[in-house]
Amino acid sequence: MLVTKSVSDVDVLVLGGGIIGVSCAYYLARAGREVTLIERDEAVCPVGASSYANAGLVMPSDPYPLPSPGVLGQGMKWLLDSSSPLYIRPRPSPALARWLLGFAGASRESRMRRGMPVLRALGVEGLKAFDEVCGSGPVEAGYKHTGILSLYLTDAALDAAAAGAAPLKESFGVEAQIWDSARVHERVPAALPDVVGGVFTAEDGHVDPLKLTRGMARAAEDLGATVLPTTEAIGFARAGRRLNGVMTTRGMLRAETVVLAAGVWSGRLARGLGVSLPLQPAKGYSLTVPRPEGVPADLALYLPEGHACVTPFGGGLRFAGTLELSGMNDRVLVNRVAAIRRGAGRYFAGVETAPTTALWRGLRPMTPDGLPMVGRPAAYDNLVIATGHNMNGIMYGPVTGKLVAEVVDGREPSVDLTLLKPERFGIL
Ligand SMILES: Cc1cc2nc3c(=O)[nH]c(=O)nc-3n(C[C@H](O)[C@H](O)[C@H](O)COP(=O)(O)OP(=O)(O)OC[C@H]3O[C@@H](n4cnc5c(N)ncnc54)[C@H](O)[C@@H]3O)c2cc1C
Repeated sequence: MLVTKSVSDVDVLVLGGGIIGVSCAYYLARAGREVTLIERDEAVCPVGASSYANAGLVMPSDPYPLPSPGVLGQGMKWLLDSSSPLYIRPRPSPALARWLLGFAGASRESRMRRGMPVLRALGVEGLKAFDEVCGSGPVEAGYKHTGILSLYLTDAALDAAAAGAAPLKESFGVEAQIWDSARVHERVPAALPDVVGGVFTAEDGHVDPLKLTRGMARAAEDLGATVLPTTEAIGFARAGRRLNGVMTTRGMLRAETVVLAAGVWSGRLARGLGVSLPLQPAKGYSLTVPRPEGVPADLALYLPEGHACVTPFGGGLRFAGTLELSGMNDRVLVNRVAAIRRGAGRYFAGVETAPTTALWRGLRPMTPDGLPMVGRPAAYDNLVIATGHNMNGIMYGPVTGKLVAEVVDGREPSVDLTLLKPERFGIL
């Protein structure tokens, strides 16, 4: 089928139907813009999108970027162990080498601390956007603002978490409750006796990422946006500082403004525009099992020592985790999936043998400094970039849509975007 829209009809064209693209379409449509979103697959949020079956945690209480002191050292120890929580497949890739150098630089204490206020601001504004979209708004996505409970297996880890909570309260007002073993087992009766305590952060929550992404696309359409599935962006028509059009598999689309929000695939598209977006895909897995008795249906759990998160979805329980920097591929490494099960099995009986009802992998769009890229690149007057949301694209999705609508409209963004400039890495 050919695209029948007349070229002058497209005011804002959004590329990519993951959580970031649909959030942009929703907030742009809400702001009265005429929006068209294209998605290369047969529906928005296809199984290959990172937004499809992730953990769905909304956790503003954790404003730490991934690059931080010690993380690379730990990663190096795990380097060759393909069942470790962070696995880098050794390969001759100049892009990966440059990305790792950028990551190493961003892991300095001062750089990590510089990024925390903007991540906290995105989280706090993000919660408001969730209330707007899922609370009082049009999207039914199982959003539960019921907190997240982190569970600990050793006194040392619990003490370290408790010590870490005080500076977060002082700097960012994060309220954390330290729970003893009795309180944890009262709330999560299925937790094994080895669980010595927990940290409960009431401001956090969780959501069904697929329902959220498809629900926001529908809400955008209800506001007048056009969603075109099976339409892949394959190139651009440029004239000086303007993007005149986007070549798609269903013809050329011209637009006043183009929003590039194609997840980890944004890097390849941007190269065609001479814009460098140093994104690396970080594969993660989720597996779902029937929810055991004694695991609450309304509370997400974080298992730091098991390197996994746990989210209840109806009668199922989803375990998610691992970071695998192995390039752009969808290979399933079974020992990595087994490692998630093993990690979770330290907290709950029966998890290691429970039947899998769903297994999924997705590619997170990772930036070297752990911060998203949101804003206009210098070389173009009518291009906005919104990608690189790392491990938190669901949490930061709706607020990114709001920020992009503000940028497109020339309004003051509700979060300072200085540190999120898409071109901050130079040619990296
Ligand atoms: C295991 C796992 C657990 C996670 N847990 C959480 C969590 O608990 N909380 C959280 O906030 N985040 C989590 N994340 C991260 C989150 O999934 C991502 O940050 C987020 O989904 C990125 O969204 P996106 O829209 O940028 O990309 P995607 O969801 O990947 O969407 C990009 C879309 O663009 C389309 N596309 C690509 N190229 C083109 C083209 N040329 N033309 C048209 N369309 C194109 C793709 O088909 C795709 O639909 C997790 C990720 C994983 C893998």
